[in-house]
Amino acid sequence: MTRGRLAPTPTGYLHVGHARTFALAAARAASGTLIYRTEDLDAGRCRPEFAAAAIEDLRWLGLKWTEGPDVGGPHAPYVQSLRLPWFREVWSLLQVTGTIYPCDKSRKDVERSLTAPHAEDDAEPIFPPALRPPLGAGREAREPGPTNWRFRVPDGETITFIDALQGPQAFVAGRDFGDFLVWRKDGFPAYELAVVADDHAMGITEVVRGADLLLSTARQILLYRALGWTQPTWAHAPLVVDADGKRLAKRTAGLSIRELRQKGKTPEAVLTASLDQLLR
Ligand code: GLU
Repeated sequence: MTRGRLAPTPTGYLHVGHARTFALAAARAASGTLIYRTEDLDAGRCRPEFAAAAIEDLRWLGLKWTEGPDVGGPHAPYVQSLRLPWFREVWSLLQVTGTIYPCDKSRKDVERSLTAPHAEDDAEPIFPPALRPPLGAGREAREPGPTNWRFRVPDGETITFIDALQGPQAFVAGRDFGDFLVWRKDGFPAYELAVVADDHAMGITEVVRGADLLLSTARQILLYRALGWTQPTWAHAPLVVDADGKRLAKRTAGLSIRELRQKGKTPEAVLTASLDQLLR
């Protein structure tokens, strides 16, 4: 039985791109269970009013979930900022495997790691292996403490997976992505750890999200492997782009679900009409 999920980050109003990806996620889980999880770890950018608006907008679109912050469920809480004890536990599980190490890097890298690295933002330079500490560094730590932690990727190994929508994928560790942050020195997990921890804890069997997170999937597969957890199947939806081919997230004026609704557009139009039609 499929367990799918919607995992919005409440940094703004959801737009037509979100609407379409989430509708697809809901459709693919239609014969199973759909879970709603608010990913609000970035306290500086997330706001409760956006979290509430996302729920309202997705309900208006006709999406229905059986577990979530507004309806509860066996895996509550469904809000990441309330799940820190679990994330710390997963840090400990990783720590035992010897795959992570403490790392002192720039503040910018840390800020970037808070939210999912959607493709264009994923210009993070590959972490130079020369800056890695020796193997075993930090092994004695029992708590993450006020330090960043990175996952040591297996250089040169090709990480492959079959995406249900995009077909076969291959990313080379150390070339396409480097050692990535799993924990931040301010006491919060980085996106890659939090999303894997929660998808596993909530029994997610299929992850549906935008194609701009394909590279993150390679990182996440390494976390599943290190933790000895079964990975879900993956389905990355094509991104909605504007007439210039720009990802919608960069230009959402007039295209948030709320604005379209206020303009009298129907849920069906939001989900299927061309952007030109929607902007008219
Ligand atoms: N909260 C993440 C985002 O909005 C979700 C990414 C994911 O589905 O894994 O980008």
